[in-house]
Amino acid sequence: LVSRKKKSADTVVEINGEKIGTGSPSFVFGPCAVESYTQVAEVAAAIQAKGLKLIRGGAYKPRTSPYDFQGLGLDGLKILKQISQEYGLAVVSEIVTPSHLDEALDYVDVVQVGARNMQNFELLKAVGSINKPVLLKRGIAATLDEFIHAAEYIMSQGNDQIILCERGIRTYERATRNTLDISAVPILKQETHLPVFVDVTHSTGRRDILLPAAKAAIAIGADGVMAEVHPDPAVALSDAAQQMNLQQFDEFYNSLQNFMKTHEVH
Ligand code: PEP
Ligand code: MN
Repeated sequence: LVSRKKKSADTVVEINGEKIGTGSPSFVFGPCAVESYTQVAEVAAAIQAKGLKLIRGGAYKPRTSPYDFQGLGLDGLKILKQISQEYGLAVVSEIVTPSHLDEALDYVDVVQVGARNMQNFELLKAVGSINKPVLLKRGIAATLDEFIHAAEYIMSQGNDQIILCERGIRTYERATRNTLDISAVPILKQETHLPVFVDVTHSTGRRDILLPAAKAAIAIGADGVMAEVHPDPAVALSDAAQQMNLQQFDEFYNSLQNFMKTHEVH
């Protein structure tokens, strides 16, 4: 169902007036994790000031260590909902288990399925039965064929509002947190009719190369870019090394806009 052979026209996912998949790049910014109302509000104000329509933030965090910050859970979703109403932003947030899904639908506009859950087939089937868009991240060691099949699980249940997100894969290279597989973008766009995002934060894990990575994503035809922004990354409860602060976000976004203008991407 997700195959281009089945449907040749691009799927457009509309969220909060933002049309994703029309050729004009969309942007999802926000903190790695929801930590407090003020923390998210500061980022939301910066996003709103740029005229953007979406915000991200994790309430359920899939952490490597059980002793690391696990997210605020339902309280985090409530903060996101309040922010959404106050700033007019649609919320993208990860749900890690089907048992949280029903409740979460009252608070989130886009359900993110994280890299670690790309092959959690029961979760895929569950998000396949909702009528909200799903942002599906590529698994840490998933082939593109496995990624496409994961999207197929969702669509096979009736939900055709799916955004694919390349977020880097594990290789032997240690200079970056993961290896951004930039060629995944045109391949996924050839093989499927779904919009494709690139998460520059988790793929590179390096603040110093977020901008060139985002330029590459746009140049190669990505429908959107995701990146993490935190008011004070040094004290962030997760991903402290790679989130942009508000000034860095401002420079990142303006540079990207200039790049898009110069290269006539609108
Ligand atoms: C995230 O986007 O918050 C996240 C945990 O990313 P990933 O699932 O790609 O590691
Ligand atoms: Mn993160």
